[in-house]
Amino acid sequence: MPYKLLFCNFADCMKKLVDILRTEHHLDNNAYKALLENDDPKFVTYLHEQAHEVTNKMFGKGIFVRGLIELTNVCSNDCYYCGIRKSNSNVERYVLTSEQVLHSCQQGYELGFRTFVLQGGELPQEKASWLINLVSEIRQRWTDCAITLSLGEWPREVYKALRQAGADRYLLRHESHNAEHYSKLHPAEMSLSNRLQCLTWLKELDYQVGTGIMVGSPWQSLDNIVEDIEFIEHFEPEMIGLGPFVPQHDTPLGNYPTGSAELTCKLYSIFRLMFPNALIPTTTALNSISPNGRILGIMAGANVVMPNLSPTEYRANYALYDGKASTNAEAAEGIKQLETQLATIGYHINWTRGDYSQCKIND
Ligand code: SAM
Repeated sequence: MPYKLLFCNFADCMKKLVDILRTEHHLDNNAYKALLENDDPKFVTYLHEQAHEVTNKMFGKGIFVRGLIELTNVCSNDCYYCGIRKSNSNVERYVLTSEQVLHSCQQGYELGFRTFVLQGGELPQEKASWLINLVSEIRQRWTDCAITLSLGEWPREVYKALRQAGADRYLLRHESHNAEHYSKLHPAEMSLSNRLQCLTWLKELDYQVGTGIMVGSPWQSLDNIVEDIEFIEHFEPEMIGLGPFVPQHDTPLGNYPTGSAELTCKLYSIFRLMFPNALIPTTTALNSISPNGRILGIMAGANVVMPNLSPTEYRANYALYDGKASTNAEAAEGIKQLETQLATIGYHINWTRGDYSQCKIND
């Protein structure tokens, strides 16, 4: 126990831990676990308030927006939790054409977006050169925009070519830093070590890198989450992506319970206090399980929203989990609704690219 906590009662001790995390940006593993275990409403409110205050100091009342383009639901992986896994024969597969992607970018640009996120399943290796050309085309047409990729595991040379073609950021959740837990969520041909290798390459190649987990994935213990915190602390990603696990009825994990919105928000706060200038999205998964999820995420320390820019006719086919929100304020065309929603808590959209390097620590 830190010496500063020797003479305080439990409630004060817990608050003190939050204060230490805010000032020192680090706790030991027992302390992280204590934060995760304590559901006392007064404590949770205090944790969120501190994180929210740090976010406001760092970023003001602006929330960054990223236009999400769901490039493809074709996937060569078979993750047990994911609705677009290759073994799910109930999915109508699509790969957007380059023209469709460029059209979505154009629409997004006109709406004001300055970051495009291309996300999708794991395409076959033969598609690498198509992808590289697509990124290069986006880079040439929209020189003032950031390009983020979330397209899974590739060989180092493909990541390198994508970076050289103009990609700036890469999101690759590690999903679980515990090898045994990881192996329960994924088939034997996937490995935690390759996932981590990919993350290391992405850093070496000077991407702004995001990683993270699903909160409440089957068999995940609080100790596992502490391991994830420890990994993220050492890895120091620029972006931290966390959403609750949500079952998808056609997957092997379709009968497992949905992850907790409360725990997800608690983790937003913990990561905000650890990394004051991190880019932390309040995720679609959180908003899909909780009617006010986006706002709760922001009040807990998140500062990014990723509205959907994909052609509307394909959105239902990118069903990673049941009940995934893709309309209204979750959709790029519902941006006014998002603005109205943000205004209810005194926030607005920050339309800038929102690069990590622009975010300065003042706390
Ligand atoms: N193929 C890429 C990858 O694996 O990183 C990107 C696409 S993948 C569908 C994006 C993320 O969706 C995954 O990292 C995973 O955390 C999340 N996801 C998939 N199935 C989910 C589920 N059932 N509930 C919540 N999130 C899920």
